[in-house]
Amino acid sequence: MEEVNQHIVDMFGAKSAEEMCGPITRYWQPGLATIRHSIEARYRGEEVFQEETRVARMDGSVMDVVFATARPGAIADKSLVGFIDITERKKAEEALHTREREFSQLVNMVPSYLWRLTPDGVPNFFNQRLIDFLGLNAGSVNVEGVHPLTAVIGAVVHPGDVTRMSEALFHSVATGERFSMKFRLRRADGVYRWVEGSAEPMRDDDGRILQWYGLSHDIDDLVQAEEALRHSKQQLEQMIEAVPFSILSFAPSGEMTYVSKRYQDQAGAPTAQIKDFDALVREMAHPDDFPTMFAQAKKGFATGQPFVNRFRRCLKNGGYRWIEARAQPLRGADGAIVQWYFASIDIEEEMRAQEALRERERFLWQLVETLPAMIDCAAPNGEPFYRSQQLRDFLGYELEELDGGEKSRLDATLDAGVHPDDLAGVKEQYALSLASGEPYLRKHRLRRFDGEYRWIETRAAPMRNDEGAIVQWNVICLDVDREVRMQEELRLAQERLARAGQAASLAELSASIAHEVNQPLAAIVANSHACYRWLWADPVNTERAKIATERVIRDANSAAEVVSRIRALFKQSVENKAILVLSDVISEACSLVAGEALHRRIRIDINVESNLSPVTVDRIQVQQVLINLIRNGMEAMDSVAGEKALHLRTHRVGDEVQTEIGDHGNGIAFPDRIFEPFFTTKENGMGMGLAICRSIVEAHGGRLWAEKNEPRGARFIFTLPIVTKAAP
Ligand code: ADP
Repeated sequence: MEEVNQHIVDMFGAKSAEEMCGPITRYWQPGLATIRHSIEARYRGEEVFQEETRVARMDGSVMDVVFATARPGAIADKSLVGFIDITERKKAEEALHTREREFSQLVNMVPSYLWRLTPDGVPNFFNQRLIDFLGLNAGSVNVEGVHPLTAVIGAVVHPGDVTRMSEALFHSVATGERFSMKFRLRRADGVYRWVEGSAEPMRDDDGRILQWYGLSHDIDDLVQAEEALRHSKQQLEQMIEAVPFSILSFAPSGEMTYVSKRYQDQAGAPTAQIKDFDALVREMAHPDDFPTMFAQAKKGFATGQPFVNRFRRCLKNGGYRWIEARAQPLRGADGAIVQWYFASIDIEEEMRAQEALRERERFLWQLVETLPAMIDCAAPNGEPFYRSQQLRDFLGYELEELDGGEKSRLDATLDAGVHPDDLAGVKEQYALSLASGEPYLRKHRLRRFDGEYRWIETRAAPMRNDEGAIVQWNVICLDVDREVRMQEELRLAQERLARAGQAASLAELSASIAHEVNQPLAAIVANSHACYRWLWADPVNTERAKIATERVIRDANSAAEVVSRIRALFKQSVENKAILVLSDVISEACSLVAGEALHRRIRIDINVESNLSPVTVDRIQVQQVLINLIRNGMEAMDSVAGEKALHLRTHRVGDEVQTEIGDHGNGIAFPDRIFEPFFTTKENGMGMGLAICRSIVEAHGGRLWAEKNEPRGARFIFTLPIVTKAAP
């Protein structure tokens, strides 16, 4: 090395040019071969020599350089070598190389198909993935006389998409517009897969197209999934339309998210303003039903509980129909409501049927409630469960008021309402009907709410099911009080008539008695006068007087005969005697006058000593005595105000059974005369009652007398002898 310039000194970081000259120094060592080559090349006469090599710097670092020998003869006899530091260039090249490698890796690694076209549309690059997918490379499809792009498209695109694809791509190539479309690409194994392809031109600074870069990615799975989704959605929709429900859905915010076709067919498509639940129901629900259904829905939304609403919904072409809407929330994995679903079904027919049924029920209830009868329905065991208004009003209490006590409803009702005298019979007959299933019919007195006992006719009949088992008892109670009382009055009227008849016949009898007695009396008077005249005549005509006296005796006898005939008329025969206990006769007599007593509002207190000894009596005649005395007592109290009661007491006194009938009337005005025949103080009286009673009692070996009752009124007492063992 003879000479180096300052640039080289600087480049190598040497101290001086001298240091680098002389025999090849360590600086030149790494590049020595190159230097030699260049010199040799120079000597071989080669024009230019250029070679890359490396040299070492002073600091030990290595520098990439390019050696170049000068043209021969530039400097005589000298080999002129120059060099350029290309370290930076090398680095840049290295980096570029690395980038290129990375890029190519990228191009092949991206999970997409990349391709490139020339500005004329000739495919000139497919990435490895695309090559692998198609099984061919960009330039490998060549058809004589056909544009390479057309040839490639024809080879790899689904026949159904070829035309579309070619047109679009050639259009882009021609216009420079972006290309984008979905098409099916044929895989190497012949299977077509959906890809989404797009391409954009790369332009130079002048805007000229340099290349078209394309990218396609496989969307087949997506398309299949979409297809499956579309299919299942379609199926779902078909199903939704097939079921007889209208379906709506709302977001939790209330925003409407779905309206089924059926809903739209029936109610019409919601108008544009209607986007949420509130607005929808405000428009659709009948104003009368809206407040309730809205409140119910709001409650459901607030609590997240499913709810049901029945209301009238507006129809597309006006009018309303009843629907039942059921709302159900759909919850996400976190439990929060994602969606509210509403399924509504038309229940118009059902509601109409129900309404008709209700109407009918109303009608029947009204019928039952307004029937002029008291109605009671009872379970098969007789327990009442329904009473009509009339019966409730009559009794003055509600059925439920009977509950809670020890007695059953039936017993409580009977005990509280039925007249004590009728109670036993009523209960017995109820029990009989309930046990046998036989209809029930009975008249008895029932206490009204105001305490008055009224005659009621109760009829009960069982209602049976198809199997014949009793399902309930239907009871009807009719207030027959008026009828019973009218019957009683009728009976009394008949009795009065009979008495009048008796009185009339008695008047006739009296007339005939008077006539019959008058005749002998008149004859007696006439004969007595004659006798008197014959005795006082001068001379005395004893013969004639005797005849007259005989006639007087005859006529007196015939008058006495008339009287004894009358006496015989009232004399009671006691032929039908029997041994019996007086209590039976008493209760019979009392029941015979019960109606009359009720009518007169008189209570009869009966007090019969138990275990009475039997008496020998004519039942009918003793009854006649009892009835007579009871009736006299009742009549004596007619004009008396206040509580009226008649006391009947029978007890043993010595060898006799003594019966007393006491009243609270005005007492006996003429105690000496009342037992006389034809003595009466009553307007329509006959005055025969007591006379006959006394003759009956005496005919039985007893006695009848009257006393003053304390504190007021009269008391009639009669005795009957007790049967003695010795008697025949
Ligand atoms: P009548 O009842 O037809 O008058 P009775 O022979 O039965 O006939 O009675 C005769 C009379 O005796 C009655 O008219 C009445 O004056 C009186 N008498 C009967 N019973 C009573 C009585 N319980 N209280 C007051 N007076 C009575």
